[in-house]
Amino acid sequence: MKTKFIFVTGGVLSSLGKGLAAASLGALLQTRGLTVTIQKLDPYINVDPGTMNPFQHGEVFVTDDGAETDLDLGHYERYLNVPMSRKNNTTSGAIYNQVIAKERHGDYLGATVQVIPHITDEIKRTVLSLADGDSAPDVAIIEIGGTVGDIEGLPFLEAIRQLRSEIGRDNCLNIHLTLVPYLRCAGEHKTKPTQHSVKELLSIGIQPDIILCRCEQSIPLEMRKKIALFCNVDEDAVFSSVDVSNIYEVPLKFYEEGFDQKVAIMLRLPARNAHLESWEKLVHDSSNPQGKVTIAIVGKYVDLKEAYKSLHEALVHGGIANRVEVELRYVNSETVDSSNAAATFVGCDGILVPGGFGYRGVEGKIAAIRYAREQRVPFFGICLGMQCAVIEFARHVAGLEDANSEEFDPKSEHKVIYLMTEWFDFRTKNVETRDAESDKGGTMRLGAYPCRILPETRAYTAYQQNQVEERHRHRYEFNDAYRKTLGEKGMLFSGTAPDDSLVEIIELPDHPWFLGCQFHPEFKSRPMSAHPLFREFIKAAKQQARI
Ligand code: GLN
Repeated sequence: MKTKFIFVTGGVLSSLGKGLAAASLGALLQTRGLTVTIQKLDPYINVDPGTMNPFQHGEVFVTDDGAETDLDLGHYERYLNVPMSRKNNTTSGAIYNQVIAKERHGDYLGATVQVIPHITDEIKRTVLSLADGDSAPDVAIIEIGGTVGDIEGLPFLEAIRQLRSEIGRDNCLNIHLTLVPYLRCAGEHKTKPTQHSVKELLSIGIQPDIILCRCEQSIPLEMRKKIALFCNVDEDAVFSSVDVSNIYEVPLKFYEEGFDQKVAIMLRLPARNAHLESWEKLVHDSSNPQGKVTIAIVGKYVDLKEAYKSLHEALVHGGIANRVEVELRYVNSETVDSSNAAATFVGCDGILVPGGFGYRGVEGKIAAIRYAREQRVPFFGICLGMQCAVIEFARHVAGLEDANSEEFDPKSEHKVIYLMTEWFDFRTKNVETRDAESDKGGTMRLGAYPCRILPETRAYTAYQQNQVEERHRHRYEFNDAYRKTLGEKGMLFSGTAPDDSLVEIIELPDHPWFLGCQFHPEFKSRPMSAHPLFREFIKAAKQQARI
């Protein structure tokens, strides 16, 4: 097997940025000419995060092949610029699901099915599947979710402990990310939590090779030596992961520390020198904007920034492409109505309504969209945001007063957005069916679908292509029965399924920039190449701000 494995565990507490650290290390190894993939192992019982509330778990990231995954996969794609798939994320629930299915099928006939070896074997199989086939990468980084010491994470840790002896010490590396707090009153960094965390890891048989210390400021040499001594790692294997204001600086900071160099040496990787020009340019461009635009995000999950992670990044990318800083103003849609819209959006150069589920806050979104349409403020609606734009237009321009989505008002006379009970899944080549009572997990229109772009539209100006592929995650669709009525009133359907069966993009030509899409373009935006629709939206906002 040519693939080398790097296991990343976290200690002391969560939210230390394991995903960003793993992605940044992957990006650095890539610039050294290596092929890299990353996998996230999540210890919770949900089969995937698709059924979780964004407040619980942050955004659900969707891959081309229609997997609903952990938001860290978004970081992986943004840093590595390679598409992730179903293979790149698994959970305890998914592992148990497979083992139980095998048990029922009779695959283990005669045996007592246990965590060790059956669950751990299934985990190992999932990890090793990354190294299958001709396209096996040089390096696979495996990020283990949660914190060392959690009961839930134990089977994953046991599996990686076993893997080390199975695939050979030279082919594996354990990196442990911990917190090294700086105590201002004592004027020094404190290493005790790190020592305890490593002790915890050792008690389950894992000796870290590298310790990555999350800290406010770089850790002095003597402290690093102390950590090395007490945690039994090389003196030059303790690195600082300092807080940065711009997350795209992390790979450069790691490089300055010599982190990737040490990894390459320890794993004997055939790596050339790192080529960091594109990362340096990215950081330079994002740190030197020529102005600022303010974008209002009108949504329901505004108290948890993680809920709109990819969206946030895509807007930042749009800003970098236009050389402006993008200030985001999160507006709780439940607080917006027609009487306060003008006051709420004063100073905003663009309004964005993101995806979402459920009726709560929808009328506020519609009020925000009406304001954007009437006051000619650039508007971008994504998924639910597009659906709300259609409802708003149907109500206030086409005069269909009770227009609504079947999701919110199944009794509405004008269900301009409706549940498609039967559709052709081009991936499985099956006609799929569903109704309002269908299972909620994994039953949406998910993943990449083709979209045909009508020439001479704003969508075409953005994409410059006749056909694109974009990622979906929704149940409801534009109701074709209203295409003619709304079209006559000035709504343009600039993106549709190639056979014209589904509306994917709507726009209002008679407006500075008003566009809604049924898919989630934010999942495909990259720091070095902003998604075309975000680039154009920020460009319109920049014009609005007269920069
Ligand atoms: N709730 C809507 C639907 O299911 C929109 C989903 C979304 O915005 N992702 O179609």
